[in-house]
Amino acid sequence: MDRRDFLKAGGIAATAAVVPGFAASCTKGQTFRDFVVKDSYQAQVVVVGGGPSGVAAALAAARAGMKTILIEHGSCLGGMATRGLVEPFMTCYDTTGEQMIIKGIFEEIVNNLVENGGAIHPKEVRWETPYTAWMKLGHDHETPFDPEVLKFVLDTMVLQAGIKVLYHTTFVKSVVKGDKIEKLVLLTKRGLESVKADFVIDTTGDGDVAATAGVPFTIGNGKGKVQPCTLFMRLNNIESDKLIKDVESHLPEFKRVNGVSYRALFWYVEQAENAGEWDIERKSVNLHRCVKGDEWSVNVTRILDVDALDPESLTAGEIEGRRQVQEVFKFFKKYVPGCKNATLMKTADTLGIRESRHIEGEFLLQADDLLNGVVPEDSILVASNSIDVHGGQGNTNTTNYTLMKQGRWYGVPYRCLVPKGIRNLLVAGRPISATSEAVGAVRVMPPCMAMGQAAGIAAAFAVRNATAAKDVDIDSLRKEIVKQGGFLG
Ligand SMILES: Cc1cc2nc3c(=O)[nH]c(=O)nc-3n(C[C@H](O)[C@H](O)[C@H](O)COP(=O)(O)OP(=O)(O)OC[C@H]3O[C@@H](n4cnc5c(N)ncnc54)[C@H](O)[C@@H]3O)c2cc1C
Repeated sequence: MDRRDFLKAGGIAATAAVVPGFAASCTKGQTFRDFVVKDSYQAQVVVVGGGPSGVAAALAAARAGMKTILIEHGSCLGGMATRGLVEPFMTCYDTTGEQMIIKGIFEEIVNNLVENGGAIHPKEVRWETPYTAWMKLGHDHETPFDPEVLKFVLDTMVLQAGIKVLYHTTFVKSVVKGDKIEKLVLLTKRGLESVKADFVIDTTGDGDVAATAGVPFTIGNGKGKVQPCTLFMRLNNIESDKLIKDVESHLPEFKRVNGVSYRALFWYVEQAENAGEWDIERKSVNLHRCVKGDEWSVNVTRILDVDALDPESLTAGEIEGRRQVQEVFKFFKKYVPGCKNATLMKTADTLGIRESRHIEGEFLLQADDLLNGVVPEDSILVASNSIDVHGGQGNTNTTNYTLMKQGRWYGVPYRCLVPKGIRNLLVAGRPISATSEAVGAVRVMPPCMAMGQAAGIAAAFAVRNATAAKDVDIDSLRKEIVKQGGFLG
């Protein structure tokens, strides 16, 4: 990249903003230019972000014969599933609980996990059990998995597919010419580098590539409000039988009042609140039993108004999350049967971000379409996940949880992945073109993997036929998804 390109790409200001203290580290006579390695990489398909959607996208593109590079800011694949400790995979079945409807690469990953002792197959996991946090409707056939095994499984799969993976590599900015992304600026330990791409898939969760390429977007609900964050934690060394016995004796008392859930352990949360030992904006604890029987995944911290695009806000959120984790851990040891000797195994490496950017695409997915089981003709996956909007009623304690009203599944159209204005870009996963409410359903990991797989196949079609993302032939795309084991209804 020459100096002019670099300045166009955000230049000195962007570098200084991304790397505080960068200027101070230049020795005499050096310029920022000395940190820029010219076009280090080139690929037909570059996938940015190695979470559930990115892994599936890269696998699908590489298996379609594309020279594929997968860029990941962290040190492993899986995104929220590994670094975020988010678990289990939400349901992949239809509303009747009879048919597995999210398949393809998702199913392959599940099978590989099971084979390596790192998951319980969803066919064996039924609702209202410790593996579904005793939740019922919308929670049948979830998939408990071990994030450590997932890291290994995903490494193995991407290597087998011939994907070049770059960990510790942060996407900084898209360099756009006309309506095309020409290259991507990356930040590595070597400095600033770039990768030239015929086609790019943005799976950063935040729509970073699309936003810096000029694709319009909204944030959160469009009125500046995003769903709260959660820092996940894992506890082990729990006498699970005692814990399960206690919770199950209270099952008939589980309730929802004005959108506030009173589920597992609300009877102890009440006591702790009264004793001034609980100040978290949740009245019960969402805890899932893990694959290893004495291990539990706890989703209860609630951090409000975190701006996932602002490092200061993220820093404050991480610190507050860890403070809450300590409070929750003490709560478990003091109040919860079977937890006296519990160990805090791990907190997530990164905050769980429920919401940030939603890009503007060729179609806006809306809640009503999902709830009414609409399956548009260009659907690239079907799913039945309920709409889950935390903090959705103004009161931060509430969660709007809305089940489908009719049909066994709804469709997610390809057009939601096609951003406005850029011909060689698709966006998959959390930031697709959907309202804040609709994303509350399709942001869960099985649909994200199905979106990624579709995006990878579509990218290969676009490269091979030299077409824009929006002109990819839908019939061929859908046929290929089904050929690869996907289910489209
Ligand atoms: C609190 C919480 C609870 C949840 N509960 C569940 C649940 O029980 N079950 C379920 O199935 N789903 C659940 N979800 C949803 C799910 O985990 C996420 O929505 C899903 O992982 C999104 O997948 P993704 O691939 O779009 O993004 P992510 O999983 O966020 O992955 C994005 C990846 O991109 C990388 N990245 C980001 N920016 C850059 C950059 N600039 N350069 C390089 N790399 C970058 C990140 O490091 C990350 O690896 C939950 C989410 C949260 C936050």
